[in-house]
Amino acid sequence: MNLVDSPLQTATRLTHAGRKGKDHAAFVNPSVVRASTMLFPDVASLKDACGTRRAYGRHGNETTQALEQALCAAEGAAACMLTPSGLSAITTTLLALLQPGDHLLMVDTVYDPTRLFCEGMLKQIGVTTTYYDPLVGRGIAELMQFNTKVVFVESPGSLTFEVQDIPGIAAAAHARGAVVVSDSTWATPIGWDSFELGIDVSVHAATKYIVGHSDALMGAILTTAALEERIRNCYRQLGMTIGADDAALALRGLRTLAARLAAHRESAHVVARWLQEQPEVAEVLYPPMPGSPGHELWKRDFKAEYACGLMGAVFRADITEQQVAALIDRTRLFGIGFSWGGFESLILPTNPASYRTVNADKWQTPMLRLHVGLEAVQDLLADLEQGFAALRKIPEPVRERSYLKAVI
Ligand SMILES: *Cc1c(COP(=O)(O)O)cnc(C)c1O
Repeated sequence: MNLVDSPLQTATRLTHAGRKGKDHAAFVNPSVVRASTMLFPDVASLKDACGTRRAYGRHGNETTQALEQALCAAEGAAACMLTPSGLSAITTTLLALLQPGDHLLMVDTVYDPTRLFCEGMLKQIGVTTTYYDPLVGRGIAELMQFNTKVVFVESPGSLTFEVQDIPGIAAAAHARGAVVVSDSTWATPIGWDSFELGIDVSVHAATKYIVGHSDALMGAILTTAALEERIRNCYRQLGMTIGADDAALALRGLRTLAARLAAHRESAHVVARWLQEQPEVAEVLYPPMPGSPGHELWKRDFKAEYACGLMGAVFRADITEQQVAALIDRTRLFGIGFSWGGFESLILPTNPASYRTVNADKWQTPMLRLHVGLEAVQDLLADLEQGFAALRKIPEPVRERSYLKAVI
């Protein structure tokens, strides 16, 4: 798509990618093609269509293709494959790139269900996994084994938001013939130049900011041309596909991604600074905020204008789980629930130590995860103010830890 002579800015690409050009008479959006069977006028055209693998609903349609094209343009990927959830995008990619006898280097701060897949199905088929410190940087070279085929990154890390040195890790991985797979959900397709940083496959829980309205689940695998065929083979064999209605929702979400992120980011900065001033809070984990852990690396590799609204807060050691529960229960605008990236604000207690194997002892005090939504920020601050007032009313420390095991 060559619209104008100069390279297009991100917001422009999001608005125009995957659409017909101005010289076509067409509706703005593609039709929503609800379809399984495709009919052909004769055997010759059936054979032609089979050659292109566009002969059956599972292979995609006008709606899903428009979304694939738009996502490729958004992130600068050669190819896109859409899956029914973020988790299935991750598992499909790992199954495609790993065989029995292979070794996987997995960041310890990975989204927990990804870890469960490594400990479950990957282990079952004879793939071994080593979890590494998210801050390892180029030191990853020392962890590479002769059979290491994939280095998996997730930056910032789930729940604790460590920023990884992706170019350093990618250089070491590529030097040994391994590929770099990234869970890029936090960055979204526009928050960094993933492929320039050295990522080979950028996987997204599109469920979060791409869909953006908490009304559909979806995953996206965005890849370089070199790995497309291998991943597509696995994707097809597994029968991965998505419905056109969900594709239309995700495409609608993608069109406003840049505008929504700008609003999320602005409010998130205000909330992060406010949290940092609360005496009970030891540390706010929001890399876009100066002073937050990982900020310098974040500034180097991410695009400041497209930071998102997800952050963590670590409480002082004397704050109890019961006090944090009182805070959460008292809030009225922050919903208690899994996922994030929708228009609404969310709050959750977290306990990363319960499923980490590297540096788990670092996270021994109560923590929160907040998603700052599109509400007016003064209302969100008033809500948190009431929450902290409730926390301060709990007098007797009750020291027991029984956090939710799986935080999503
Ligand atoms: C939510 C999430 C996923 C999984 O996405 P689903 O669509 O819920 O399967 C994967 N990775 C990260 C970082 C997530 O936050």
